[in-house]
Amino acid sequence: MSEVTAAADPPPVELDASAKANPGAVRDERYFYHDGDCMFQVEGVQFKLHRFILCKDKDSMFSDMFNLPRPQDHHVAAGEGEPEIIPIPDETARDFRALCWVHYAMPGELTAQAIRTPDFGKLLSVLRMAHKFDMREFEKWAWEMMKLRPTLLDKYLEGCSEAALARALEIAVKSANQELAEAVEKIWLLGIQGSRPGVRSTYALATAEHLGRRRFETCIYLELRRQLRSVPHLVSPARGFAHFGLDPEQLQKLLVGHAMLSNMLQSPSTAPIPKAATCRGHNFCSGKWVEIYKFNENEPLKSISSIRTAGQATGNPCIVGHLNNVLPKVEDIESAFLGPGMLASQLALDARRSPRVLHPATI
Ligand SMILES: [Zn+2]
Repeated sequence: MSEVTAAADPPPVELDASAKANPGAVRDERYFYHDGDCMFQVEGVQFKLHRFILCKDKDSMFSDMFNLPRPQDHHVAAGEGEPEIIPIPDETARDFRALCWVHYAMPGELTAQAIRTPDFGKLLSVLRMAHKFDMREFEKWAWEMMKLRPTLLDKYLEGCSEAALARALEIAVKSANQELAEAVEKIWLLGIQGSRPGVRSTYALATAEHLGRRRFETCIYLELRRQLRSVPHLVSPARGFAHFGLDPEQLQKLLVGHAMLSNMLQSPSTAPIPKAATCRGHNFCSGKWVEIYKFNENEPLKSISSIRTAGQATGNPCIVGHLNNVLPKVEDIESAFLGPGMLASQLALDARRSPRVLHPATI
């Protein structure tokens, strides 16, 4: 991800003697205003900005931080000394620069996002920063620009490097943006399924695991299982499972999940349907089950969903009861590959909704 961010950043400028308190720090080339009254340092880059600009959103963390309105704090004249530097750890200068851009941009620069091809890399940074600092209006605007023309977002993601996909997914998770996360995962999975040569399942698996995206991780293992079942000569006693390029833990998950899922799918196709007390003609129930149980091994999640929907639509107590007893749930399939617990990936999204932090030192 960092290699993606570095290319677009302008070269930093060395600080002059006035900032010798921070040797090695550099001044941002664009967002260092001499009449600024607040200073931030991100990845060794200093940004000198204006509080009243950052506090446009009165509900933002910056508004809380600067405790507006406090007229005496609004302006620090040049020559009165530099404002205290507020460090922002664990973030990139690139993302913070995008936050500055959206606050200081001229109207034409902003409307260009809607009428020309959006700068998705920059909008992702705005989304991330605006969420972190509780700037709801800016966060909403960035996401609206991104999804204004969904085909352009898909096209951007299709052209992304794997590292950029990982960055987009991480920002989606950290920003609790489920819609964006699913858009990234959809395109990434298509790449793994063969739409883009060279997209590595092992990298996507590591990212999904790191971000707690269990559904996405499971979908990748299901795709590998599909290959294992349907592509001849993919594995052999001589080469083992080298084709997949998985690390030992990932290979273990694939093989255990494959075995467990194969076993779990035995019952729905072979087990007899118990007769419900209210059933008046049980022969019909067995025939109906055969009719609705159209399971496609290549698309297990989709099959389970459509079988469940069709079974429940019959309103037949024997079939509905059988569905609940023998048809695996999506969570069961996730657990087959990934182990139990952890709940769903939504938990990861919730956990990353950071509490509101008011003091700069704790940003
Ligand atoms: Zn029946």
